[in-house]
Amino acid sequence: MATAPDELTILDIPIHNVTMTEAIDTLRRFLDEPVPRQVCFVNADVANKAYRDREYRQTLQQAAFSLADGIGLKLAGKLLGRDIKQNVNRTDLFPQLCEALEGSGHGIYLLGAKPGVPELVRDRMLERFPGLRISGTQHGYFNEEEEPGVIDRIARSGASLLLVAFGAPRQDLWIRTHLEATGVRVGIGVGGLFDFYSGRMARSPQWMREMGMEWLYRLYQEPGRMWKRYGIGNALFLYRVIKEKYLGGVPS
Ligand code: UDP
Repeated sequence: MATAPDELTILDIPIHNVTMTEAIDTLRRFLDEPVPRQVCFVNADVANKAYRDREYRQTLQQAAFSLADGIGLKLAGKLLGRDIKQNVNRTDLFPQLCEALEGSGHGIYLLGAKPGVPELVRDRMLERFPGLRISGTQHGYFNEEEEPGVIDRIARSGASLLLVAFGAPRQDLWIRTHLEATGVRVGIGVGGLFDFYSGRMARSPQWMREMGMEWLYRLYQEPGRMWKRYGIGNALFLYRVIKEKYLGGVPS
């Protein structure tokens, strides 16, 4: 990239070590250039999934821009003697990016989550940012036969930015495969982002986020699903980072 921000590698995944402001500026620049680019948010759960999944790891490796999402990555940086500048998580980035795109003419396509959810996100974001352009919406529960129609609608919408909320790794693999066909300039996998911004799921209080404790709040909301991801996942991730540091090697 022209303005190469400093980079580090954690468990064989390249991370662009940037602040939130630098991330928004880079995305803004990508949107002005007629080149399709994939952007990934990397958190401990993503790194754990990629550790055992070569195809997913390669997808993250070939992304144009990978952002350090969450406290787990910050801790991993510390273990590796590198200071991760900021927790550039998707939930904080989304409204800032919407603000940056107001009046720019660059449209966003919201793809994923349950039927009705992306439409709620559209309405709420347009209320907050009236100059924003939402080029289209589509839920994430379509089947294989419906997929070409979905891709075609995105291409015809003229969107510049595609946000895909299918969960990891499916969303990132989907973007890798279909980015060119959708005709967008930037495709980003955003996980459960739309559930937050549809108002269907409460976000942790600001003070918890600032302390990097958002994961604790998600654990409280969905203990059945989240205990494995956070309780075991974060510990496993940090164990793997330490193991890689002293013994080397991610399985091929
Ligand atoms: N989802 C989807 N299609 C599917 C399965 C899941 O659109 O076939 C959506 C789901 O509704 C949710 C998101 O993908 O909005 C995944 O959220 P999760 O919290 O698991 O993702 P994370 O943020 O942890 O990556």
